Amino acid sequence: MAEVDRSCLFCRIVAGELPADRVYEDEELLAFKDIHPQAPFHCLVIPKAHVATLNDFESDQGALVGSLLLTAKRIAADAGLPGYRVAMNVNREGGQVVFHAHLHVLGGRPLKGALG
Ligand code: AMP
Ligand code: ZN
Repeated sequence: MAEVDRSCLFCRIVAGELPADRVYEDEELLAFKDIHPQAPFHCLVIPKAHVATLNDFESDQGALVGSLLLTAKRIAADAGLPGYRVAMNVNREGGQVVFHAHLHVLGGRPLKGALG
């Protein structure tokens, strides 16, 4: 296995060095509960390999980006969510705080319309 980037919180979660409430895992993706949930259900879906932001995916990684979304769908179905929201913050100006790309999956109550 590649060496763990200890400066990256989510790489450390992938490596099992930091705890997380894991809800889904396969060879390329991991999903776990957000530590500060903004809705009754709030999960993060991440690629196991370090990619800092959506902008850093290569053009030949479309399948991996698609898998993030399809995994969000699967998690929402498993959680029995009738509706949900997926969001990805990109760069500080887009609200990104952790620079290991992640998809937020939120639900469990009717969500408000405002996104920004
Ligand atoms: P973002 O603003 O899109 O970078 O979101 C980062 C998210 O990571 C926030 O919703 C945090 O609550 C969440 N977070 C930070 N540290 C952890 C952690 N150790 N385990 C789970 N979620 C975390
Ligand atoms: Zn990372």
